Amino acid sequence: MNAQSFIKHLMTDSKSLYKYFVEAQPVSLEDVKMSLMLAERESDVHVPDHHYRLGVEKTFENISHLGELFTVGLSEMADEYLSWENNTVYVNAERQNQWQLLLPYMPPLIMVSARIWKERPPCGMSTVEYISNYIIPNLRFTAIPSPHIRQLEELREREHGLCDLHMHLNGTLETDTTWQDFLLHPDRVYMELKVAADTGKVKEQYLQLSPYIKPLAFRRLLQVARVLRSVLCESLVSGEHGIGEELTLSVLLKQLSIADKKEPDSHHPMAYLVGKDCNPICMEAMLYVMVLEHLCRNNADDYTASLFHYYLLILGHTNKMLVQQPDSFGFEEFQKYTMNGFREHSEKEYRRRFLQIAGNKLGNIRLLEGRFSPKDSLLKSEGLIDRITIGWRELGRQRQNQGLGDGIKLELKLVAHLIKRPDTKPDEYVRHKWLRREIMHKATILAQLKKRNDNYSKMLVGIDAAASEFDAPPEVFAPAYRYLREHGYKHFTYHAGEDFFHVLSGLRAIYEAIIFLDLKRGDRIGHASATGIPIELWRDNIGEKMLIRQGEYLDDLLFAYHLIEHSNNQHLNNRLPYLELTINNFSYEVYGEHIPLRLLIESWLYRYKNPEADYNGTSVKSYRDIPLKYFLFYHWKETRDRYDKIIEIETFGAFAKDELVELQLMLLEYMFHHEIVIETLPTSNVVIGVHRDYTTYHLYNWLEWRKQGKLVPPIVVGTDDAGIFATNIYNEYCNIYCQFVYAKRMSTKEAIAYIEELHHNSRLYAFVTE
Ligand SMILES: [Zn+2]
Repeated sequence: MNAQSFIKHLMTDSKSLYKYFVEAQPVSLEDVKMSLMLAERESDVHVPDHHYRLGVEKTFENISHLGELFTVGLSEMADEYLSWENNTVYVNAERQNQWQLLLPYMPPLIMVSARIWKERPPCGMSTVEYISNYIIPNLRFTAIPSPHIRQLEELREREHGLCDLHMHLNGTLETDTTWQDFLLHPDRVYMELKVAADTGKVKEQYLQLSPYIKPLAFRRLLQVARVLRSVLCESLVSGEHGIGEELTLSVLLKQLSIADKKEPDSHHPMAYLVGKDCNPICMEAMLYVMVLEHLCRNNADDYTASLFHYYLLILGHTNKMLVQQPDSFGFEEFQKYTMNGFREHSEKEYRRRFLQIAGNKLGNIRLLEGRFSPKDSLLKSEGLIDRITIGWRELGRQRQNQGLGDGIKLELKLVAHLIKRPDTKPDEYVRHKWLRREIMHKATILAQLKKRNDNYSKMLVGIDAAASEFDAPPEVFAPAYRYLREHGYKHFTYHAGEDFFHVLSGLRAIYEAIIFLDLKRGDRIGHASATGIPIELWRDNIGEKMLIRQGEYLDDLLFAYHLIEHSNNQHLNNRLPYLELTINNFSYEVYGEHIPLRLLIESWLYRYKNPEADYNGTSVKSYRDIPLKYFLFYHWKETRDRYDKIIEIETFGAFAKDELVELQLMLLEYMFHHEIVIETLPTSNVVIGVHRDYTTYHLYNWLEWRKQGKLVPPIVVGTDDAGIFATNIYNEYCNIYCQFVYAKRMSTKEAIAYIEELHHNSRLYAFVTE
């Protein structure tokens, strides 16, 4: 616990926002102290209150006015994480991992602005000069700063940018840019939020993150933020601050609480000072710098401090809906961010996303494999690819304008991702019947695009399937993958082993993806976290007992049996007779009869088949192909009902901790022999997965195992959803480097050597050929 532990809650403090917005009352410094203490207390209720009280006292020892929350509290926090060198703001390398996990609490622009202000207070210089000297170089295209790590900068320069082999094009735009769109078009944003808010998971997210805020209230908050920003700007420029103080503030808050009217779209109020062509996030930074300077000179001006506080609280709450929160574990939590509609309006065009991920000097990226979701018609899919390429060309143009390029052509390759969805209209005889048909429909469109051998087909290099693994297993995609391989596609990847009930289920999903989808050498698995996570940490998270569907557990055990019997692991081979007994019991529970183990395994291996095509209309019971018969039974509703029954198991019941590690290693070895590449996505894996921070991130395990002589497949790196995780490919490499060097005490030489290998793999295994 330190001062940052409390100040980090400054923008997500819902109690203060409630007081301003719902009660229309000013918030005092004492109110803030109490809210920040309670927010920090929620992170660990086992720590006694006296420790928190002492922490608050220490945090606030130099803060006696509301304005000093920003000029002292926030500014000291910015100093802690950010450094200033050659007029550039960098993240302190030894704090990079922690900084990354701070971004869900506060978007970076306010911190970067505080750091700039501290180094270069805006005096003796015109606003335009100040912006061009200090703000634009640091915030031209993105507010997400990077650490200054010579080894990685050298690699980036030598390679003319880095390769990002897994980035979804949606979910990329960062909060500070999106925020500007929100304030420009609150009504349009509201329409998108309203549409998305009807889905169950999004309703849950609102309840969870902003209990009293719904889309309509969000629109009001945005309108309030717009007024606050204008009032701040006007008062700073005119020099008339805090007239009437308490009274004026109360009146203003009351007026704001009832204002709910449609207002014309208006540009950033700083635009008239600096020109409309200036990037809005640069204007916003200038505003922050001016407010900080004012509050520093007038520390008792509670009026301005309150307006700024209220404004940042609205921004902080918006950030909560845009960037995955550290207490939002698991894939389902992540999925809410992809569904809540918050980026829908801003992500209609692509230009800003590409400039953002390329960084302020546009040097981060050399090759991007962008994931996109194909549309349901050829024409619409072409239109989408056109919009993406227009955005990408703009990145090339901007690089040329900046004198970059040197004949280096940045490469954009597209990977179409099919979407996993739940079986909402269950059929009597076929699991996921409608999703299977939808996927095949999309596959035929993708095949048509490929066939034409034009620019579209040259860009479209691979196939992926994304979204929640809990909704649809790999087998559902098997017919489409095989069809697409026959229709011109050479590269395939599949999201698997990212989140799961039992770690065995995660391992099985990876194995099923490889064999059911017929993955070949050089194909990939996205995430594959199940093969690397620390087993003990996973068990600590879920407990000694767990719930699981009995059919899934039966399949997990079958998979384990199959994997073990093909290995030369003597210890686990000795366990097979016991495993067979357990499988026998479960087979009776799921299929209503005792089915010989061999048959069960064979029918499981048939799951790549299309059940609609294999059912010939006669009685299944008369089928001569017995495994096929059980494969079809597996699809029947009657079996499904038994399969779905929830049971309680011992987490380490079938396999002890060390045995599960053996199974992880066994699957890694299988992947190594088949040259199936793992795409690892650092921040995404740390935030979604079992980890609490980077110290346990499993890339390190893979490296350690290899050092012990185990066989580990090639690994490549990506960003996943650059906006939802507030990152870019350069920063993801920095996160790896900093975990190795600062958390694991690895030598910088060894760390950079391994990173060079990862990047070499990315070039080697990129899906660049058609
Ligand atoms: Zn992904």
